[in-house]
Amino acid sequence: MMNSFLYEQPVKIHFGWDKLTELESVLDEIGAKKCVIVCSKSSLARAEKLMKDSERIVGIFSDIRPNPLLSGAAETAELIKKHGADTVIALGGGSAIDSAKYSAACAFSDHTAYEHFIDGIPLPEKGAKLVAVPTTAGTGSEVTKVSVISHENEKRSIHNPVFMPDICIVDPALTMSVPQRTTMITGLDAFTHAIEAYWSKNHQPITDLYAIESIRIILGNLEKSYEVGDKESRTNMAYGSLLAGLAFSAAKTAASHACSFPISAYYHLPHGEACAFTLDSLIRINADERLERLAKAVGFESTDALADEINRLKRISGLAMKLSDVSDNFDIDLVSKESAVHPLMANNPVSLSADDLKKMFEALK
Ligand code: NAD
Repeated sequence: MMNSFLYEQPVKIHFGWDKLTELESVLDEIGAKKCVIVCSKSSLARAEKLMKDSERIVGIFSDIRPNPLLSGAAETAELIKKHGADTVIALGGGSAIDSAKYSAACAFSDHTAYEHFIDGIPLPEKGAKLVAVPTTAGTGSEVTKVSVISHENEKRSIHNPVFMPDICIVDPALTMSVPQRTTMITGLDAFTHAIEAYWSKNHQPITDLYAIESIRIILGNLEKSYEVGDKESRTNMAYGSLLAGLAFSAAKTAASHACSFPISAYYHLPHGEACAFTLDSLIRINADERLERLAKAVGFESTDALADEINRLKRISGLAMKLSDVSDNFDIDLVSKESAVHPLMANNPVSLSADDLKKMFEALK
């Protein structure tokens, strides 16, 4: 019998090859008057071209690093205020989009980004309008109300409706230049979103549909997108990543993400690599009849075979497999303790204590 559920997806999605060429009409759709672009260095040339071609784009902030910092969001918020901009265009991977989300909200506040983050002052209900343009196929941030911001030794995943983009442009052509290793890392991030949405305690029929289709598409295209990077596999990965974003936006993620936060915060592993680090272990730990059905639905004999495939994808792309690949001083106690109390851990179908996680990490020695 189907349980009751609430499903909401407020972001308008424009998907298609070269869709970014329609930016001006998208800006008209939301009544944008003055825009600031937030991007990473890899998108700076493209951002400058967009600014040259549009009178309403008045500024660019491009000092965004992976696992974006509070300081960058604070600086961007001041830039948005200085220009009196009403719209932020986030052009980049999850780091640029998340930083843009936080700064777009803080730009419409009398408080600084530091005061909101450190002192816990609530963010305003309404920020600048947000157009999200992902250039990686991974985070799904273009359809989520999540912004992940780092400050000192903390990487914080903040959920707030103010972060929901108004509109997104998913243009797979933008992902053609993603380097090989980043292609695998971001693709495994998308896979982790989909499988965690599927096994999350909050999963529901609509998110299950997105998750299963996303996993099927990602497993069918990630290796080719990594090895060859052709138009077809890149387009499919952009779609698979979008579906995974839609899946976890409502269902939320679970243990793999809970573990990824201290791993990225202390050892600076890229987000997708940190998620993938524990993923095959967690597929085996979370294995049950329902996961077995998923594995079979996407072409594997068993959950073990699905876990083996994730392990293989990590191996062929040289991602971290053992604790010593992450750090010579991987602190199992610290990471296990922090992961066990992370709020996302509560969504995991199997309850995992710090001791259970310790055992999982010990096996990765
Ligand atoms: P990223 O944005 O950090 O980018 C990784 C690297 O790839 C950067 O050096 C960037 O400059 C480069 N890059 C991006 N697009 C490129 C392109 N088209 N061509 C060449 N280089 C390119 O990586 P990401 O995996 O997209 O984002 C990771 C961040 O997103 C993390 O901080 C993570 O926590 C966060 N995240 C957020 C959500 C969410 O819902 N908000 C979900 C998952 C992850």
